[in-house]
Amino acid sequence: MSKFNALLTCTAAIAALGVLFFSNLFFPLWTWTSGGPVAGEGLPQVAQGTHPPSAEPAGGDAPSPEDLPFFAGNINSLPRETIVELLAFLDTPIANARINMTAGQLPGAPRPYRNGIHEGIDFYDGFSGVPIIQGTPVLAAAEGKIIRIDHAYQEMTPAQADEFRRISAESLDTPADILDKFRGRQVWLEHQGEVITRYAHLETVEAGLVEGQIVSAGQQIGTVGNSGTSQAVAGRRGGRHLHFEVWLKGYYLGEGLPLEDIRFILRGIFE
Ligand SMILES: [Zn+2]
Repeated sequence: MSKFNALLTCTAAIAALGVLFFSNLFFPLWTWTSGGPVAGEGLPQVAQGTHPPSAEPAGGDAPSPEDLPFFAGNINSLPRETIVELLAFLDTPIANARINMTAGQLPGAPRPYRNGIHEGIDFYDGFSGVPIIQGTPVLAAAEGKIIRIDHAYQEMTPAQADEFRRISAESLDTPADILDKFRGRQVWLEHQGEVITRYAHLETVEAGLVEGQIVSAGQQIGTVGNSGTSQAVAGRRGGRHLHFEVWLKGYYLGEGLPLEDIRFILRGIFE
């Protein structure tokens, strides 16, 4: 073997070892569960429908909708374009309604009355491009399984509501059981990839629908109301709106994100 050939073989072997090292050691650590790479650093593109189900997404690939059941991290840690792509199957829960981009009605808005943070998107009359009034149908944002439907809802009494606000004020955040009361009458749906949507403050839920049942995209599940709000507690009819949340693996869509990103993501998904 000539000196030149020996050098070439040696270089090739070192290069091969390098490739092995990085593919076997580096990429398995570089998972989305740890928050993923920083935007702009050679991000892999989402490959739709090309991933076999796997407990761990293949190294370096963004999860496709098929991977979502196995995605254990915070969806908000993904690049915002990826979030849009993953949730693009969702539609607005009120026919032809626009997403209201008012900061106070988006995820992350402070809610001083209960010492907490808003976890959803509000659809109010006058802000969404369509009338949102008594009887306005609330629609399933996508095909999904009913995992909660409050047929036997009881409004809080004024004394109970006062007590819940007092407890919240003394806590670091709104306690989960109290927050649930403030959401009023609800329907929760589970969709593909374990994505969950919640519809709150409903006045009615559709008779005949039961937990475990599959509803189709756009099927009516209830009507807009004000249940769980101070107006309802006081026996008044004002303040009707739909409060709508999107969840994955214990994180709500928009949790911890800047307003700018939240608006980008919601426009991308729903418009
Ligand atoms: Zn709300």
